[in-house]
Amino acid sequence: MARKKKDPPAHVETKTFTVKKCPYCYTYVAVKEMRCEACGKRVGAVDSSGWARKVFDWRAYLGAIVAIATFLIFYWWAFLSK
Ligand SMILES: [Zn+2]
Repeated sequence: MARKKKDPPAHVETKTFTVKKCPYCYTYVAVKEMRCEACGKRVGAVDSSGWARKVFDWRAYLGAIVAIATFLIFYWWAFLSK
């Protein structure tokens, strides 16, 4: 608990909370924890009502966007570029 991280992420807002509530299993976890120990899911910063924010899964969305973009580029190249 007492161990400090050298450079905490700038987007983490701790405010006055010491614990936050996991939105998946309703267990309290420490504010600085980025993963719920009870259910193993990633949790974000605490919000104003004491709940942990759900973490946006950028990698999944990025993969989908890249796949769609690749398809559109292929479509354009194959049918529209002549
Ligand atoms: Zn949980």
